[in-house]
Amino acid sequence: MTGPVKGEKIYRGIPVSAGVCRGKILLLHQARHVISRRELPGPSVEPEVKRFEQSLVRTRQQITEVQRRVSETMSSSEADIFDAHLLMLEDRVLIEEVIKIIREKKANAEFAFHTAAEKYIAVLENVDDEYLRERAADLRDLTGRVLDILLEVKDQLDLRHLSEPCILVSHDLSPSMTAQLDRKYVLGFVTDIGGKTSHTAILSRSLDIPAIVGAQGISEELETGDYALLDGYNGTIIVNPTDQTLFEYGQLAKIKASLDEKLREVQHQPAVTLDGKTVHLSANIEDQHDIQAVLAHGAEGVGLFRTEFLFINRDQLPTEEEQYAVYRQVADALKPHPVIIRTLDLGGDKFASHLQLAQEMNPFLGWRAIRFCLAQPEMFRAQLRAILRASAGGNVKMMYPMISGLDELNQANAHVESCKAELRAENIPFAENLEIGAMMEIPSAVLIADTLAKRVKFFSIGSNDLIQYTLAADRTNEKVSHLYEPTHPAILRLIKMTVDAAHANGIWAGVCGEIAGDPVLTPLLLGLGVDELSAAPAVLDQVKYIIRRLKLDEARALAEFALASESPTQIFARCVEFARQTAPSLFESKA
Ligand code: PEP
Ligand code: MG
Repeated sequence: MTGPVKGEKIYRGIPVSAGVCRGKILLLHQARHVISRRELPGPSVEPEVKRFEQSLVRTRQQITEVQRRVSETMSSSEADIFDAHLLMLEDRVLIEEVIKIIREKKANAEFAFHTAAEKYIAVLENVDDEYLRERAADLRDLTGRVLDILLEVKDQLDLRHLSEPCILVSHDLSPSMTAQLDRKYVLGFVTDIGGKTSHTAILSRSLDIPAIVGAQGISEELETGDYALLDGYNGTIIVNPTDQTLFEYGQLAKIKASLDEKLREVQHQPAVTLDGKTVHLSANIEDQHDIQAVLAHGAEGVGLFRTEFLFINRDQLPTEEEQYAVYRQVADALKPHPVIIRTLDLGGDKFASHLQLAQEMNPFLGWRAIRFCLAQPEMFRAQLRAILRASAGGNVKMMYPMISGLDELNQANAHVESCKAELRAENIPFAENLEIGAMMEIPSAVLIADTLAKRVKFFSIGSNDLIQYTLAADRTNEKVSHLYEPTHPAILRLIKMTVDAAHANGIWAGVCGEIAGDPVLTPLLLGLGVDELSAAPAVLDQVKYIIRRLKLDEARALAEFALASESPTQIFARCVEFARQTAPSLFESKA
């Protein structure tokens, strides 16, 4: 930490969600424990011993609760790990030593406990026995819990209970933490790490709050209470903005207000090009709370319902009944428009704490999405039954994430068929002809698109993953964000292959990855023959705005140029030029 920033200072990162906000910084992940020594007056010594003993009792309760939750969802061996913690809590030698320090040195409990525990940790860390060295990590974990209680550290990461507006600055924000953000109080956020299509970035667009990721090291530079302006258009955070800067941003706000007015005008107009091609524009949502935004932005239904957000930030799996109620609510609200429900895509950068998925070396290449679902049939089938039941009332479709080959598609479909048989036997209604599609987000799936196209009713291109898997560039890692290029010729060819295979087999192909919400890329995607675009409600207006100003013929010429070009940068530059000429107003707030 470097002390408060003096004078105006500008930091840069990757802009991931548009908008400008101003306010006080709230820094997360600050050093959790500042242990200072206090000399206790004589009469306070015994109450301090009591306070220490009570902290052990509360720690025990906490651990037992965590252990109970883990054992509900995982094998007992995972839960057994906590037995080691509980045993350490009862270690009389450690406890006596702490009490001795409190009594003899008249020291406060946290100082006494920290001193004694650190001594033990140092001994354990230095023994020549791997088992004992691992116990050092256990003891550190345990020490953290006891100190949290003694110091009354409120969980800084519980973002549901902020009490004043702030700009969050953090090394990282997980998607589950981001999903909890309270829009009333979180004006925007900045992180040290992350990429444009990480789920954290996607959520910031869904929440419609300005955000910057990959601002390397910013959490080391800023402090809680610093005053800053966050520019989510250009990826800059300006600490202590001068009057001149504030004036310039005032001008920008005026430009933005006039653009917003133009965008509002198209919200309920059709998405049709100047030469008459209608494009299906739908929305990406995370839960039923997004229905309002879908309707407000005039989307024609939902192209991607990321159902995994119903599974995170809670203690237990949602039941079939609960899921059914949510799917039904969304389908009913958006009828007659389609709602494409994607089956669970946990793993990668999205975790459900109660499922306690093991840490993997390469989570994006690991136990994720359809792979995870096929291995957890009970959980998967509860979701399938809920989706099937919701299909009885609304225009529901379903798609599978992360299909890498035909086998997975067949296995998933077999579960659907047997769930249908169950429902029939139970006399529970569902749509017999529920349309099922495949997400095209793994290169192997695209390469066998002709095979898959004969067995599904639609394709939805998950460009976020398709780009990361094709270019071997982690979507959440800012260090390789320069390689993560949507206009790489390999990506354009894969999109074209998907669209061609779909059309040759009489089905449609859409895009639901983040490129579908970038107006710079809209003409290119339409030119490549994409039939549907699905994006966060807040960015749909811009996409529609440009669609209504372009000619499909010209978009096709742009795509032809792109397919013949060898250079991602050249293709991107041509897309920018095309978009700026077609819809200049969209770009006035960009530097
Ligand atoms: C994608 O990969 O493009 C996609 C839409 O799915 P997600 O971002 O949830 O992985
Ligand atoms: Mg994906």
